[in-house]
Amino acid sequence: MDLPVDEWKSYILQKWSLLPKSIQVTISTAETLHDLFLHSSPLLQPEDEMFLKRLSGGYLVGKDPDASLFYREKGNQKFQAKDYMGAAVLYSKGVSHSGPSSTDISLCYANRSAALFHLGQYETCLKDIVRAQTHGYPERLQPKLLLRKAECLVTLGRPQEASQTVIDLESSFAAKPTLSASQFQILQRILCRVKVKVQEKENLPEIFPEALTKTFEGVDLREENEQIPGASSSVSLHVDPLKGRYLVATKDILPGELLVKEDAFVSVLNPGEVPLWPRGLESKWDIQVTNGDLHCHRCLRHTLAPVPCDGCSYAKYCSQECMQQAWDRYHSVECSLGALLLTLGLFCHVALRSTLLARFEDVGKVTKKLCGEMSNQGICLPESKNPVQTLKYDLGGEGDKKDKAVETPIPGCDINGKYERNYNAIFHLLPHTENHSPEHKFLCALSVSALCRQLEAAGLQAFTTDLKPTKLKAAEPPVLCAELSVWGVAMLRHMLQLQCNAQAITTIQQTGSKESLITDTRRVRLATALFPVVSLLNHSCSPNTSVSFIGTIATIRASQLIRSGQEILHCYGPHESRMGVAERRQKLRSQYFFDCDCPPCEREKQRPSAGPGRGAFRCHRCRALLQGDDVLSCSGPACMESVSRDLLVSRLQDLQRQVGAAQKHLRNGRLEVAIQLLLGCQSDAESFLSAEHSVVGEIEDALAQAYAALDLPLFAGDWEKSATHLQKSLQVVEVHHGPSSVEMGHELFKLAQVFFNGCAVPEALKTIQKAEKVLLVHYGPWNDEIRELQKMKSCLLDLLPIPVGPKE
Ligand SMILES: [Zn+2]
Ligand SMILES: [Zn+2]
Ligand SMILES: [Zn+2]
Ligand SMILES: [Zn+2]
Repeated sequence: MDLPVDEWKSYILQKWSLLPKSIQVTISTAETLHDLFLHSSPLLQPEDEMFLKRLSGGYLVGKDPDASLFYREKGNQKFQAKDYMGAAVLYSKGVSHSGPSSTDISLCYANRSAALFHLGQYETCLKDIVRAQTHGYPERLQPKLLLRKAECLVTLGRPQEASQTVIDLESSFAAKPTLSASQFQILQRILCRVKVKVQEKENLPEIFPEALTKTFEGVDLREENEQIPGASSSVSLHVDPLKGRYLVATKDILPGELLVKEDAFVSVLNPGEVPLWPRGLESKWDIQVTNGDLHCHRCLRHTLAPVPCDGCSYAKYCSQECMQQAWDRYHSVECSLGALLLTLGLFCHVALRSTLLARFEDVGKVTKKLCGEMSNQGICLPESKNPVQTLKYDLGGEGDKKDKAVETPIPGCDINGKYERNYNAIFHLLPHTENHSPEHKFLCALSVSALCRQLEAAGLQAFTTDLKPTKLKAAEPPVLCAELSVWGVAMLRHMLQLQCNAQAITTIQQTGSKESLITDTRRVRLATALFPVVSLLNHSCSPNTSVSFIGTIATIRASQLIRSGQEILHCYGPHESRMGVAERRQKLRSQYFFDCDCPPCEREKQRPSAGPGRGAFRCHRCRALLQGDDVLSCSGPACMESVSRDLLVSRLQDLQRQVGAAQKHLRNGRLEVAIQLLLGCQSDAESFLSAEHSVVGEIEDALAQAYAALDLPLFAGDWEKSATHLQKSLQVVEVHHGPSSVEMGHELFKLAQVFFNGCAVPEALKTIQKAEKVLLVHYGPWNDEIRELQKMKSCLLDLLPIPVGPKE
């Protein structure tokens, strides 16, 4: 998903292997990205572009009125079955496929407003009603819509507006002699009901609904860093030739302290698995729900009622404002390129969007001083705001790094030494050109070239600069105009940077069956982004910070006490609790080009048996741990048992398959079947795995969920059994991730839910307190789970018997 699709990848690799040796050498040894791009780009032939065009033709990104009807009907089915959430999402898909001001779009909006009404989302429902009306909702159906509007307004405590709607409604009835008698009667009856409600409400003082939107303003940095906006004053920026740039604590930092709060410079929503068309035989359109259906394409906010771009079916936004901003800043260029961008992958998309965003920066500050150096660069531009100028300056500057080093000692900082969250900072993230394989660089260069050609073909070079585009002579081989090739080089740089600097924006998604009373959560990747400040942090397999996201804003908090002078570290992915040292080091070397020497890596290198996965098997006779490499022998005092690792590993794989199958039953609500399977897995696991094995934890966790979901009279599930299993799972999590880890926090949250549902007041309160303490450190106070815990707590405190005071 980050890189181009496999078909294009192998096509380009094939092309590379057929190139004459001399050309391969020229490209491999190109000293600058500029040379690399200039040597590769002309090799992209028209037939290559045709091939790419065929590939991207498989994505459905345009509007299709037939699809609109299809999704509306599917939505109606869900609506009939009272699955309002499912209906809303399908109506949204219908909305995105209908053209603006069409009956199709107005019907989809109107139907979605009904689903939202049932979901209790009255504000959003009202917005959809207005949308339906502005897009030309049929006159004859208006009464239905107006009634819904009146009911919404009543529920929201806005009686004046509701009365006005009722008046509109009555006059609309009067103008409708076409209504059948029975229809008229039904409407009359509903109208009466609404009128009564309106009158009741009119006598009450106006109540405004409590703002439920998540505000982030309350969680700010205690004191902002003067050198690095977005970072706390408790850290400082350092640079050294071996480690590059990094952050160090300037004072003792307590767990939970906010160290960085930064909005992404650029982010691109990961649309999820977008299937290529044609898919199944039954249907041209899929009804699968992905990230792209549920999150705003600009601010990433979750929404059940997105508004689509007028020009395509794939870009959807939480609001008209987000749509407009996205359009102005980048989507006007990207809109027609949707299929190509899906084919070329997220990195290519982020690269394009970064350069598009660079157009809006006041780069004058950076360039003015260096304008003298610009005079020999070919293009000298009058506008200080012109991105081509910055790009040109920076690209030309690669050769004379040393001169620049004198002026700005830390790359990415301005002449005053301030590290700003702007394009300059993005530009200075390391592309590691020398570390990428020639084939990879060739793939990136040709993908970027293809994108530039499309931009050119679409006449979009006007977007890249205010200057008139340089004229192309028709007879010449394909050469990009000067501005676009400057853009191409910049995009190539971003594509190479992203491998080491891309930050995945993740969100916690709730999974588990609808019946389940305890929430299971899963971390999913929502977007790929670049954060200049977050990028300053180095990696550790055992980091001292925790990263979380709200929309496109990243926050980094200390996850433990950090002493003054210690480096601030976060984990790029390979965490010591998830992988052994060999796997971690291999991953870090191949993706990030360095050898990790963090304390856990050094420790495990000395003593390989310390990592996870080792010492995990035990003897089926005496239960003692098995030790050894290819052949493991029992460590029990009087036991001679030995067994091959291969055998144990294949047994483990069998077990994991079974657990997977049981979890699937659990998700589909087949609880009894799931429990039977899981109990089998549990006794199997006991016979050869240690009690701390992560699979044992998974089994216990799944059992807990299953028992909690059982439909028993009086109590919510078999909460006692559920709690017992959850406590075992908690022990495993503690061994693997530590007592104050975020994983522990999520598991404690589940246990709190179980106790709460079982009305086990003291246990619940104790667990809520523990969960809250752990989660606060990682997420700060505005986290959904923490709010949920607080609600449970106040509910329980109301239940507690009121202590009787001493008699007077
Ligand atoms: Zn938005
Ligand atoms: Zn669009
Ligand atoms: Zn490490
Ligand atoms: Zn033994």
